[in-house]
Amino acid sequence: MYKAFLIKYAEIAIKGKNRYLFEDALVRNIEYQLKNVDGNFTVRKENGRIYVETEGDYDYDETVEALQRVFGIVGICPVILVEDEGFDRLAEAVVAHVDEAYPDKHFTFKVDARRARKNYPMTSMELNAALGERILEAFPETKVDVHHPQVMVYVEIRPMINIYSTEIPGPGGMPLGTAGRAMLLLSGGIDSPVAGYMISKRGVTLEATYFHAPPYTSERAKQKVIDLAQKVAKFSGPIKLHIVNFTDIQLYIYEKCPHEELTIIMRRYMMKIAEHFANEGKCLGMITGESIGQVASQTMQSLAVTNEVCTMPVYRPLIAMDKQDIVRIAERIDTYETSILPYEDCCTIFVAKHPVTKPSLKSIKRSEQKLEEKIDELMQTAIDTTETIVVEA
Ligand code: ATP
Ligand code: MG
Repeated sequence: MYKAFLIKYAEIAIKGKNRYLFEDALVRNIEYQLKNVDGNFTVRKENGRIYVETEGDYDYDETVEALQRVFGIVGICPVILVEDEGFDRLAEAVVAHVDEAYPDKHFTFKVDARRARKNYPMTSMELNAALGERILEAFPETKVDVHHPQVMVYVEIRPMINIYSTEIPGPGGMPLGTAGRAMLLLSGGIDSPVAGYMISKRGVTLEATYFHAPPYTSERAKQKVIDLAQKVAKFSGPIKLHIVNFTDIQLYIYEKCPHEELTIIMRRYMMKIAEHFANEGKCLGMITGESIGQVASQTMQSLAVTNEVCTMPVYRPLIAMDKQDIVRIAERIDTYETSILPYEDCCTIFVAKHPVTKPSLKSIKRSEQKLEEKIDELMQTAIDTTETIVVEA
């Protein structure tokens, strides 16, 4: 019954002169998400509004789902657009909309009319009253309730008249591509895909780095990370993924350094290598799935020591979140089931029984001196042999 959707966006509206950039990005991202949906769609900007219009048959549910993945959208309103052909025709259209949208007429309602075009011959108040009356006449089972109506019937007088009564929530956030790029350290766990999703929701374009340690980690573990990247890419758009062979570095650290410091030292080298690719890709920051106190390598002391090697800002959107809240997001964005597949990730092979929970930078640096002979060469080899792929949803 609907041939169009009115797209509501909030935060974008406050961006002053840059507003059109945000709107244009939003239009592009909507077009991108609708590419794989059955139907012919046109996305149109009009006076601070975005409309998605359809031609011929289309899949309503798929369309709404696709729009719910577009960051920046606050609400998706299936809308009836009619020409202004006088009040009677408008009232007919409103009554027809109510009839089709609500088969059971036992509900309370309120009409909320607005005029973006002030030359319309009736005021908003007159429209509210007159349209309300027409609905009551057509469906005597309905009742008006101006305080807590079950159905709000919005009527907006614009170039075309907009009639709608449903607002499906969008994901919120900012349109992709409006905030620069960042490098996600993506592992096969639950947290990092969620962290990437959250930062990309702020309009940030994602790039990712994954460290594996063949043959200690399997091909399936690698495929799992690619699958996770693909799930995140459903929201974030294509992700350039760097797959770094970390085996020799890990073995070398294992050979030379105290085992309780392994994870921290490994983390520091991961950060350095990821930052190399981040610089190459003109990223403005890095993203991890760390959260205070979750494991030994994520105490404040450990985070400080890990962070010390980074020159770029490191964004940790999960820093203050509990696991169950992270899991809830993972389930919602459909990464959870993949994340919990039981393939070794490179850290679990080399974990110490009693990792340090309060590492001191001094002692870590002292341990790292034992790596001086070969570590630069190993890092260079890891960088040179990195496999880079583009993962698309
Ligand atoms: P996750 O669920 O994201 O794996 P985790 O709780 O298992 O997190 P850690 O293994 O301590 O935590 O990893 C902390 C963060 O370090 C991860 O969120 C991720 O950003 C990064 N990280 C860990 N292992 C890797 C890896 N093999 N490749 C890339 N990044 C990694
Ligand atoms: Mg992990």
